[in-house]
Amino acid sequence: MLFPFYFDPTFIILIPAILLALYAQTKVQTTYARYMRVPARSGITGAEAARELLRQNGLYDVRVEQVRGRLTDHYDPRSKTLRLSPEVYNSSSLAALGIAAHEAGHALQHADEYTPLRLRNAIVPIASIGSQLAFPLLLIGLLLDSLNLITIGVAAFSLAVLFQLITLPVEYNASSRAIAALEAGGMIYREEVQPTRNVLSAAALTYVAATIMAVMQLLRLLLISGLLGGRRRD
Ligand SMILES: [Zn+2]
Repeated sequence: MLFPFYFDPTFIILIPAILLALYAQTKVQTTYARYMRVPARSGITGAEAARELLRQNGLYDVRVEQVRGRLTDHYDPRSKTLRLSPEVYNSSSLAALGIAAHEAGHALQHADEYTPLRLRNAIVPIASIGSQLAFPLLLIGLLLDSLNLITIGVAAFSLAVLFQLITLPVEYNASSRAIAALEAGGMIYREEVQPTRNVLSAAALTYVAATIMAVMQLLRLLLISGLLGGRRRD
C-alpha cells in the first residue's frame, strides 16, 4: 500500500455525525458565553448554589472546591468532591448556577445509587480497555484475514459504544435534578428556568453527538470487516 490514507467510501456515513459534533461544540460555546453574562436574580455564586443544593438534600460529606481551567467542572465520586472551574465557582450567572447544579446532580445520583450511574462506573474499566484494543485487533485481523480477531476487535469497540450510550441517561438525569433543585431551593426564579435549561441542553448535545459518532464508527467497522453486508473473500 503506497498511501496509508486511501479513500474509504464507508467514511461517508460519518459525515452527518461529524457535522453534528461541530454544531454541538459551537452551540455549547456560544450558549455558555451568552448565559455567563446573564446574572441570576438570587445573586448567589456557582459555589454557593452547589453547597446549598447539597445541604438541602442532606449531602453534608461532599466538598466543593475550585479547579483550574475552563469547563473543567466535574464531580469526583471517589473523594466525594465537586470541583468547579473558577468561572463557575465565582460567578453568579445563570450558566454558572446551571453547571454547578448539574455537577451537584451527579453527587445526588451517587448518594442515591442511581442505577445508570452504577452501570456506567461498572463498565468504565472494560470500556477503556476495549477502546484501546479495538483498532489494533481489527488491523491485525484484517491483515491476517482472521475473522475471529476482527470479531473480537468489533466486540471490544462495542464496549466503548455501550459506555457512550449509558452516559446519556446519567447526563440528562443530572441536568433535570439540577433544574428542579435550583427552582425548588429558590436559587433561580421561574423565568430563569428556561435560560438555565438551555445551557445544560447545549452541554448534553455534545454527549448525544459523541454517542452518534461512536454508533456510526461501529457501523463502519462492521461494514469494513465484512461482518455486515456479507462481503465474501476467498
Ligand atoms: Zn455531567
